[in-house]
Amino acid sequence: MIQVAHSAFTEVNQRVAHAGEILNLDPGVIAAISSCEREVVISIPLHRKEGIDVLTGYRVQHSSARGPRKGGIRFHQDVDLDEVRALASLMTWKTALIDVPFGGAKGGVTVDASKLLPLEKEEVIRRWTRTLINVLGPNRDIPAPDMGTDAQSMAWLMDEFHRLEGFQPACVTGKPVSLFGAPGREEATGRGVAQIAAATLSQSNRKVAGTRVAIQGFGNVGRYAALVCQELGMKVVALSDISGGIVNSNGIDISAIFNVKNLSEVSSDNRIQAAEVLEVACDLLIPAALGGVINSTNADQIKAEFIVEGANQPITTDADNRLKARGVVIVPDILANSGGVMGSYFEWTQNIQQFSWPIEKFRNELDQRMEKAFVNVNKVAQQYRVDLRTAAFIVSVGRVATAFTQRGSLI
Ligand code: NAD
Repeated sequence: MIQVAHSAFTEVNQRVAHAGEILNLDPGVIAAISSCEREVVISIPLHRKEGIDVLTGYRVQHSSARGPRKGGIRFHQDVDLDEVRALASLMTWKTALIDVPFGGAKGGVTVDASKLLPLEKEEVIRRWTRTLINVLGPNRDIPAPDMGTDAQSMAWLMDEFHRLEGFQPACVTGKPVSLFGAPGREEATGRGVAQIAAATLSQSNRKVAGTRVAIQGFGNVGRYAALVCQELGMKVVALSDISGGIVNSNGIDISAIFNVKNLSEVSSDNRIQAAEVLEVACDLLIPAALGGVINSTNADQIKAEFIVEGANQPITTDADNRLKARGVVIVPDILANSGGVMGSYFEWTQNIQQFSWPIEKFRNELDQRMEKAFVNVNKVAQQYRVDLRTAAFIVSVGRVATAFTQRGSLI
């Protein structure tokens, strides 16, 4: 039998095509808005102690139909063009879904971030920025952090951009608060994930307090999602990161371990393998690490009744179908983790205005806008009698198609 390689980008486009068919869109329009506008692949020579290593970097600009392209930069050893295309296109659908004036993009470097020294990481970010300078900028394409990059990486990116183009802090989001970052941006993705989780439970007439939560990933997204879930009264019963996992059916005190570098530092008499967290007994599962972690090999072992996608594309299409058939409620990535790009939008607007909001205003705006997107997706799901993922794509594909068509295609 011929094995067809799994393509994350193809999976996203199948979802786009399905939503487009439901909306009765012209197949040509569906093809146009599914395609990536521009793909840049670069080489990054890196001087290391052992000699020169040549890394591969990417920037895929999927769409500018609704505004400048927007999306993070991922440093991970498995990054490839297909993954970056998929993530870039998810940004297009995410920014449209939450109705912010951005398109979609994503960047990456194929490298294990944990094996880079700080000076090496700085050099990679600076090279990436220098080589791509012509396609970046506050009105063209605005990067942000993703797996393996953080606020410090964005500070280096901004500094390199300023050397070449002059002072424009809106060229990148997710910067340190002391360097034009917005108070609230760092926690925004995880906070949004937790708020959406609570709203989903309430929508299903389930009590939020006491809900048992399992979370894969204790980085930017997983850490804040865990903290805010705890603040909302949920009980985090299992957690894992690259170093392994811990289980406590009485609830793990997240505020007590919030600042550990990784979970191997936490003392626990109930340790599990990193991937086992997906299969523990819980009510709500939040995958907040890698893509494709819930797939045909483990979908039937998932015990949670609710899955809120903190990570991008954590569930393959096959697993999604199996879980839906069992009645599991899945809140899709483009809604669940959209707090990050919402927060980036707030940072970008503040940078452009040279004005900063107090954190309370940031949180209020974030919570209100996330709630609005959540209510809209649920309304559309009922209207079309479809699951939440299909509803989210109906909203976003409709908006991008309208923008594409109104702008005109005769260029
Ligand atoms: P991060 O680098 O801060 O953290 C990643 C976490 O995943 C770490 O705790 C790491 O140890 C863990 N991890 C890695 N491999 C693992 C494995 N095999 N098993 C268990 N845990 C593993 O990254 P992040 O910014 O938190 O991003 C996580 C996910 O959320 C990604 O899919 C990213 O695209 C998505 N996302 C991030 C943002 C954001 O604002 N940072 C926004 C939207 C979506």
